[in-house]
Amino acid sequence: MLYGHIGVALAAKPIEPKTPTSALLIATSLIDFLCGIFVISGIEWVKPDGTSSMPWSHGLFMGVVWMLATYGVTWLISKNRKMSLILALLVFSHWVLDFISHPMGMGQDFPKDIPLLFENSPKVGLGLYNSAIVAFVTDIGLLAIGSVIFLVKSKTKNRSGRWAFVVLILYMAIFPLSLLLPEKLSIATTFLPLGYIPLGYWLDKNRTYQKWK
Ligand SMILES: [Zn+2]
Repeated sequence: MLYGHIGVALAAKPIEPKTPTSALLIATSLIDFLCGIFVISGIEWVKPDGTSSMPWSHGLFMGVVWMLATYGVTWLISKNRKMSLILALLVFSHWVLDFISHPMGMGQDFPKDIPLLFENSPKVGLGLYNSAIVAFVTDIGLLAIGSVIFLVKSKTKNRSGRWAFVVLILYMAIFPLSLLLPEKLSIATTFLPLGYIPLGYWLDKNRTYQKWK
């Protein structure tokens, strides 16, 4: 799953509008970001044939650890229990959605790739994204639903607030293009989620947000 995670982040904004949008976007992308870092450092690997070893980022046990760590760090910074809980749950939502969508064969028969514990532990995954069409519809559908919720529950203060959202969507469109890049360059795409920091700041500075009632 790619854009679906972003859809979940955007949909969560009205639950506690004080939560920075960049934090929401980073939270749902954290596990993939970590996976990229671990692949670069040789701790994990992912091959084009669908085989992989990613227990430190995508394992169920570590998913719970990343969730608890997010709660702790956010609590220390914000002292806001609700914000900490939302961000922690968003981090774990990545594991849940990956469990449903992986393995992402997109028409090819890929092996299950989400570990329960560590290396050599059983791997799980319901395989929703083994079908390319289901993957496309689900990913774009979740992003669309999240975007509608985000836009309906917020207002632009000025023109910049509208453009910030358009730029966020265009920025995300870069992600799949990384698949066309040579392997060495595609490593750079690991760091694309860091772009959510200025984009989220830009959104929050130029929009006002409503809470779910
Ligand atoms: Zn993932």
